[in-house]
Amino acid sequence: MIQSPLLQTFGCYIAGTWRTASQGRTIAVVNPATGEHLADVPNMDATDAMEAVKSCETALADVPDIDARRAWLTQIDALLTSHRSELAPIITQEQGKPLKESLAEVDYAAGFFRVAANHIDHIRDRTLDEIIRNARWTVRHTPAGVAGLITPWNFPLAMLAKKLSSAMAAGCPSVTKPADLTPLTLIALWHLLERLNLPPGFANLITGDAAPIGDLFCAHPAVRIISFTGSTVVGKRLMSNVAPHVKRLSLELGGNAPFMVFDDADVEKAADALVANKFRCAGQTCVCANRVLVQRGIEQRFTDAVAIRVGKLRVGNGMADGVDIGPLINRRAWDKVEQHVRDALEKGAQKIIGEQPSRPSDDFGCFYSPQIISGVTREMLVSQEETFGPVIAITSFDDDDDGIALANETPFGLASYFFTPNPSRAQRISRALRFGHVGVNTGSGPIPEAPFGGMNQSGFGREGALEGILEFCEVQVVATED
Ligand code: ADP
Repeated sequence: MIQSPLLQTFGCYIAGTWRTASQGRTIAVVNPATGEHLADVPNMDATDAMEAVKSCETALADVPDIDARRAWLTQIDALLTSHRSELAPIITQEQGKPLKESLAEVDYAAGFFRVAANHIDHIRDRTLDEIIRNARWTVRHTPAGVAGLITPWNFPLAMLAKKLSSAMAAGCPSVTKPADLTPLTLIALWHLLERLNLPPGFANLITGDAAPIGDLFCAHPAVRIISFTGSTVVGKRLMSNVAPHVKRLSLELGGNAPFMVFDDADVEKAADALVANKFRCAGQTCVCANRVLVQRGIEQRFTDAVAIRVGKLRVGNGMADGVDIGPLINRRAWDKVEQHVRDALEKGAQKIIGEQPSRPSDDFGCFYSPQIISGVTREMLVSQEETFGPVIAITSFDDDDDGIALANETPFGLASYFFTPNPSRAQRISRALRFGHVGVNTGSGPIPEAPFGGMNQSGFGREGALEGILEFCEVQVVATED
């Protein structure tokens, strides 16, 4: 059983009170490194979700003003920051990532509340300077309505922070549904939120049956926006289910990030950046490099530089000191990574580094030692889909056009990275890439201060910065003639 001062109960939070599921059902939460049973959380269904949405409707009738909302956002930033050392072990125990990454995740999450507080004044009413057609014109940003927030298991806190900070700034009461595998971090967050005395129903948390809860969000007329981060298959289902009801969606559906190294790049810098980018969360992030594209002339040097670094990485329980890579989330994730590596090797790729991991016998302890494979081609699964594991798959290319064409050869368009010190080359390449995020000489993913989101099948909508808040606002124009 998990021990934490932030987890006195394991309930859900509806209309300002802690609840169990109406049917009394629970879901067991397990540590993916050890198999330890951490807690049982409510397994709520559509009836419970309906109640949460109702409480949002009540809260929506009396949304506190911008100053009150800014004060909450600032307080949440402060609460996350001062409780980082209590939140981080919860993330590691339910998700598996190394403790240092969990601490970084808490800081990253806090940043979204800070940035939303800083931008909230932009959504105040504004009146146009001119009288036009004898009328005064006022532009308002009103809350879009009740928001359904659905989050994945790889960043249990940060993915929700992106959504909740913006919903709250915009004045949208919300119902959050975390992934079944990692609900505890958010239960801990709600214990902190309780201290703010938010209006009952302004921020609800329900854990449970994803499909009926998602379907209710889609069908319920009060829910006007669903913000979802997760798989393409669920994103498409949400799109088709909201179509009859014409409601907003913000979707972040994963990527297939290219990481390109051109022949004039600083090889050592690019190798450092790749290793930092690729192995975060054991490679289970939608912004991590999935296709490493290296110009032929420096392929050997770059591969050697990366191999030296990968050889030093330690795999193990994320709570242990010095661990760089935790377990994969479960055996399904392990099987996918293994299938990608096997497929690549069968189709002619070469293994540069990496022990052969043995298949886990259980759904926990799914450790996968980091691998580098080269000679990867576009036909291999590892090029076509997100591997979501600690595997560096290297493909070589000849010239800029060839590299750009390879990078864009995916229906996804979330993150991309490339390395060249030549500014005009960099300009040309960054403009040619069809990705919402482009790192030039950096492997850094998104930050709270800048809007982040996908192009093409990676989804639409932006999170972070002012753009994140605007996703949750309706724009209303009032023309008044005296
Ligand atoms: P993954 O395959 O990475 O677990 P999912 O898309 O299944 O990604 O999960 C992301 C989030 O979507 C989780 O909170 C999950 O419970 C939720 N989810 C899964 N199925 C549905 C659904 N049919 N409707 C709404 N949410 C869903």
